[in-house]
Amino acid sequence: MPYQAGQRLGAEQASKLGHLDVLQSKFVQDVIASFEQPELEPGDTSSTPWIPFTGEHKPLRYIFAVDGSLQVLKSEGVICREVAFVKTALLHLDPNEIASLDPEYPHPNALRKIMTNSALFHATVFPLKNIRIERVPWMEGVRNLIFESLRDPTLEGEPYKTLKWLLYQKWDSDLHSSSPSFECPVCHKEQTGLPYDSDHMVCANCNSKLFVSDVLGLHMEMADDGAAESLANAYMLIHENLMLFTAIRYFWEQGNTKVLKDTLFIKDGPLTLRAQYSKMIPNIRSFLAFANSRDCPIHICGQEKTGKFVDHLASIVRYAAPQKNGDKANLAILSHRFIRDEVQRVQAGVYPYGCKTNYGEKVYIKLNPHHALVLSIPTGEYLNHEDSPSEVPDFIGLERIIATLPGLVSYRHECALVPIELVNGIASLSNYPSAKVLKLFARLV
Ligand SMILES: [Zn+2]
Repeated sequence: MPYQAGQRLGAEQASKLGHLDVLQSKFVQDVIASFEQPELEPGDTSSTPWIPFTGEHKPLRYIFAVDGSLQVLKSEGVICREVAFVKTALLHLDPNEIASLDPEYPHPNALRKIMTNSALFHATVFPLKNIRIERVPWMEGVRNLIFESLRDPTLEGEPYKTLKWLLYQKWDSDLHSSSPSFECPVCHKEQTGLPYDSDHMVCANCNSKLFVSDVLGLHMEMADDGAAESLANAYMLIHENLMLFTAIRYFWEQGNTKVLKDTLFIKDGPLTLRAQYSKMIPNIRSFLAFANSRDCPIHICGQEKTGKFVDHLASIVRYAAPQKNGDKANLAILSHRFIRDEVQRVQAGVYPYGCKTNYGEKVYIKLNPHHALVLSIPTGEYLNHEDSPSEVPDFIGLERIIATLPGLVSYRHECALVPIELVNGIASLSNYPSAKVLKLFARLV
């Protein structure tokens, strides 16, 4: 890591001549000689379990898509101040409107019309570097900011209500459930959970006021040096999920299962919450299983656009059917064992794949010779077996989700779906006309 520029002296430049010593090292040469660059395999050596997608299934009628973005802004001047803006968006789409778009050259006015009529968004800002929060200690200020951001009045606090709905499992009024347990952010004493439906409680050990948002543990990102950006990133990921479940909760609470079970909820990225946020996962799974058992399958799919699964699919997709337009789509359900052996290539861990962190399992789908996707789709409760999931009925609504996809394919980007492209456009801060305004604001703070 080179030295950074100070006020007096410039930054250290990486030396190009320095590379020569490295390349002349006998050890480095031996290591490079040991690397194998496999030739293109003549087939799919991982034996991906492709099966043809058969039967007539009705596409879903309504579509919601969710995405988020994060932008770090740095001030100019002697002391560099940094803030991170976070934005999340939820977009409602009419599949008929999407079908009316030209898939290769959609008219910008047609896109704008779809987006302005049907999007909700939330924005907030986190201090990253050289910024204090007025009148309160730093950690308390950050916890307050998280609590108030979740209650964003422009969305009438709906994502906050969704957070409480998930933490207190409000879909089942018989449960009267308390929140999951968490650690007091002030004295670190384990709390058994907030009582049902409460916004606050007082720590019996240190008398501090604790918020329901403390259950998530976002403030723990602030404990490490320089981890402030990871707080903004974690907040964005949680908020995307809250936006998605706000749409689901809305129809559920209205008792409108007719619309709810005829809707596709699409999320950009996998259906995953890692680290301390994974405590939300059991509740999300329970709700999806609960709704499914009451004849209300909720169709959610996350599309992954980067990462190991996308790389693996790219390496094998050319061998899979369909090889020509008009042939049936093929799908591959990836079991935990397959993921470990062929995609992650790791030893068996203590827990099977995704046991703690995911509410969706992985499916590859090849819709036509040029279009293949990595999807995460929920199964409800976790299927705790190495060879699960293995068949279509393991998933909630897999057939109808797949039947909906051909109508959503976009030809503007590699393996893209129109709803995700559109919601990217809304959530993206850099493309938004207000990016300049944000920069002005960031200079003031
Ligand atoms: Zn305490």
